[in-house]
Amino acid sequence: MQLNVETLALINGGQAVALALMLWFGAHDGSRYALNGLRLRAGALVVEACGDFLLASDVHVSPLVVLLFGNGFNLVAQALTIVALRMVLRRSLLWRTSLTLCAVGWLGAAWLSVIHPNYPERVLWGSVILVCNNALNIAALWGGCGKRETRAQCVLLWAYVLAIALLVWRNVSMWMLPTPLQSISAPSSINSLYVLLIGIQPLLASVGFLLLYNEILQRELFKLARIDPLTGVNNRLGLLEASETLLARARAKHESIGVLLIDADHFKSINDRFGHDDGDRVLLELVANIRSMLRAGDMVGRVGGEEFLVFSPAVQTSDLLALAERIRVAIERTSFSIAGESYALTVSIGAAIAHGNEPDMMGARRRADMALYDAKRAGRNCVRIAAS
Ligand code: GH3
Ligand code: MG
Ligand code: MG
Repeated sequence: MQLNVETLALINGGQAVALALMLWFGAHDGSRYALNGLRLRAGALVVEACGDFLLASDVHVSPLVVLLFGNGFNLVAQALTIVALRMVLRRSLLWRTSLTLCAVGWLGAAWLSVIHPNYPERVLWGSVILVCNNALNIAALWGGCGKRETRAQCVLLWAYVLAIALLVWRNVSMWMLPTPLQSISAPSSINSLYVLLIGIQPLLASVGFLLLYNEILQRELFKLARIDPLTGVNNRLGLLEASETLLARARAKHESIGVLLIDADHFKSINDRFGHDDGDRVLLELVANIRSMLRAGDMVGRVGGEEFLVFSPAVQTSDLLALAERIRVAIERTSFSIAGESYALTVSIGAAIAHGNEPDMMGARRRADMALYDAKRAGRNCVRIAAS
């Protein structure tokens, strides 16, 4: 099969521009890194398209210009893609390595075009550089494949592995020819197949980039939906999901889970006296205090304004009461600094035990709520435990 290389290059260039537009306009939210990476990849595609259009205009432009600029565009696009991918994946960017590869690749191609013209050697040289570029991309992607959330990484891995396979095939086929080819535009099925397939690779890679961006966005949204924006601990949804996991584990191990409901005493007076912003700062310090008292497997979340829920797996009543008392005393002893003044804050705590055989944590949560009510009625700054 022989296809006209100039026509294929023109199609590849048009496709690269269309892909660049898709990446540029197809993403506008999410992490700055992922967005910048996608935009850089769009820029790389435009540079790649310049190389394709130059190859397509071969008959109108001097072959040396096509060679030097065409290789230059291609190598710059590759270098930008390495950095773009690492940006999306939040790895070290390797600007210096990728630009050095680009410069070395271009100098070698120029040497084998101007000083010591040799087409098969130039192809081999260019292929070695491209294999290095693709290997860098594979190294950046490696490790995530196989997990459900990194399907995009698999698509990209395939795009780069196929590119390496194509380069190897092209060189082996060329070196086996009885009379060597003299340029990429020479009529040959190897040239047409190579230009056709190398034009499909950016399509696969761009789809991979978009999928990757999408995965990152979904992961961020998933996290945001479960985190309280002020204190950074779990919100109600985060707690609900965590409680289901904890309860399943407790059920399997025939253990129980300690539940603490912690409510700041007279918090409204802090807001009234110092304002809402200072009230927020006190809440942050309060959460830090609670967290510092917990074990590695324990979990804290914010269920309301100044109300926090703690899950402490595998504890007995006595351990749970000791933990609640430690938290209460730690907060009582903390001198909260508000607007230059120090302020003493106390908490009331309701405790309950959730057993592994309970259908959910709602019952234990209700019992802890009632115990908290008892603690408030008993004068605040104390711990009360609900009967199981
Ligand atoms: P009690 O000892 O009975 O718990 O008294 P309290 O004042 O702490 O309880 P109440 O429920 O009456 O008031 C809670 C206050 O918490 C009301 C609200 O002003 C404040 N609050 C709720 N959410 C926030 C928040 O995100 N930031 C700040 N600064 N204050 C909050
Ligand atoms: Mg309160
Ligand atoms: Mg309250």
